[in-house]
Amino acid sequence: MKRRILASFVGVIVTGVALTTALMALLAYQLFEGRVMDGLRQHAEVFSAMIARQGAQALDDAPRGELRLTLIGADGAVLLDNSADPDGMDNHLDRPEVLAAREDGSGRAVRESQTMDRSMFYYALRLPDGGVLRVAEEASSLTGVFLRTLPLFALVLLVMVLLCVATARRLTAGLIRPIEQMTAHLDDVRGVPRYPELEPFVEMIEQQHDEILRSADMRVEFTANVSHELKTPLTSISGYAELIESGMATGEQATRFAGEIRQSANRLLTLINDIIRLSQLDGPMHETNVEPVDLSQVAENTVRQLGLNAHRMGVTLELDAKPAVISADRQMMEELLYNLCDNAIRYNVSGGSVRVEVRPLRDKVMVCVQDTGIGISEENQKHVFERFYRVDKSRSKATGGTGLGLAIVKHIAARHDAEIEIDSELGRGTAITVAFPRGARA
Ligand code: ADP
Repeated sequence: MKRRILASFVGVIVTGVALTTALMALLAYQLFEGRVMDGLRQHAEVFSAMIARQGAQALDDAPRGELRLTLIGADGAVLLDNSADPDGMDNHLDRPEVLAAREDGSGRAVRESQTMDRSMFYYALRLPDGGVLRVAEEASSLTGVFLRTLPLFALVLLVMVLLCVATARRLTAGLIRPIEQMTAHLDDVRGVPRYPELEPFVEMIEQQHDEILRSADMRVEFTANVSHELKTPLTSISGYAELIESGMATGEQATRFAGEIRQSANRLLTLINDIIRLSQLDGPMHETNVEPVDLSQVAENTVRQLGLNAHRMGVTLELDAKPAVISADRQMMEELLYNLCDNAIRYNVSGGSVRVEVRPLRDKVMVCVQDTGIGISEENQKHVFERFYRVDKSRSKATGGTGLGLAIVKHIAARHDAEIEIDSELGRGTAITVAFPRGARA
C-alpha cells in the first residue's frame, strides 16, 4: 500500500512537472520567435528604406552582423545574397515567405537548420519595384528552447519528488500507524490514537471483543450450571442405589427407591436432551430444515398431544388457529409450541385455561399462548429466557422442568427472525407472543 501511494504521488508529480515545463517552453518559444521576427522586420524596413534611397549597393555597406540578406528581383531571380553566390541560386519565388511578401507586402517563415537545436528565421518585405528583400537569422529552435529548459525541469522535478516522497511517507505512516497499533493491541483498542475514518472499525472490534468476553463468561456459567444440574439427580440415584445395595432397604421400600432412581434417571435424560438441543441451536445455521409449515396445524397437533397433561392438571385447552403458512423448520416449530403450551399448563392453576392462537396478518404470523396461571413478576420476566433460570425451582422440578424450555424457544425464534413478546401479571396469567415475518427465512 505504501509503495502504491508513493508511486501514484510520483506519477502525478512527474506528469504535472513535465506538462508545466512543456507549456512554459512553448510559451517562451513563442515569445522568443516574436522577438526574433520583430528584430528581422525592423532590419528589413531599415534596409528597404536604404535601398529606396541609394539603390541595391546600399546593402554592401550596411552593418549586417549575423544577418543574411537576400535581394530577389520581381521575376524571382536572386540579385544579391551576402552568404552565397547569387548566380548559383535557383529562382526564389517558391519560398513561402517570398510568396507571402509579394502578395501581402510581408511574409515570414521558420525552417530547419543543419542542427536540430537551431532554426532559420526568415522575414521578407516587398519593395516598391516589385522585388523582395529577405532578412534571415539563425537562432534557437523550439527543440533548442526545450533543451535549455531541461536542467531546470530536472531540478524542479528532483525537488518535487523529494518533497513528495517525504509527504507520502508522512501521510502513509499517519494512516497506517493506528492500524498497526490496533492490530498489536486487539484486546484493547480503546487507547490507540486514531482518526475519524477508523472509528467504525474500532467500534466493531470493541463490540466483537465484548461479545467474545460475554460468550466466554456465559460458557463458563453454563458449564457450571450444567454440572450442578446433573449432580443432583446423580447424587440421588447413587444414594438410593447404595441403600438398596447395602440391604438397608428391602421389600416395598426397595421398590419405592427403585422408582426414585428411575425418576432421577428420567430427569437426567430430559436434561441431557435439552442441553444437546440447545447446543445444536447454538451451532451453524445450515442445520435448519426450511420448508412450508402451516403453524395452525402444528398448534393443533400440540394441543392434541398435551390434552391429557392439561386434563390431569385440571386445565382446559382452547385452540383458535387460522391457516398460516411460513417457511420454517417444522421440528423447531413443534418444539416452540410444545414448550410454550407445556409451560402454560404447568404454571397454571386448577380450573385455569390455556388459549393457543395462530393469527395470520398482512406481513407476519402471530403465535400466541395465553394462560390464566400464576403469572411472572416484572423482574422475573427479564430473566425467564435465560438458561436454567427458574422462578420457582421446586415447582419447575416437580413438573419436570429443566429451566431450558424458554431458552430453546428464544433460540428457535431468533433462527426464524421472529420476535418474542411477554405479557404477564402475577396471579393473573401470562401471554407469550411470537411474531414470525412472512416468508421467514431460517
Ligand atoms: P422450565 O423447564 O423450568 O419450565 P423454562 O425455560 O420453560 O423452564 O421457563 C423458565 C421459568 O419461567 C420457569 O421455571 C417458570 O418459573 C417461568 N415460566 C415459564 N412459563 C411460564 C408461564 N406460562 N407462567 C408462569 N411462569 C412461567
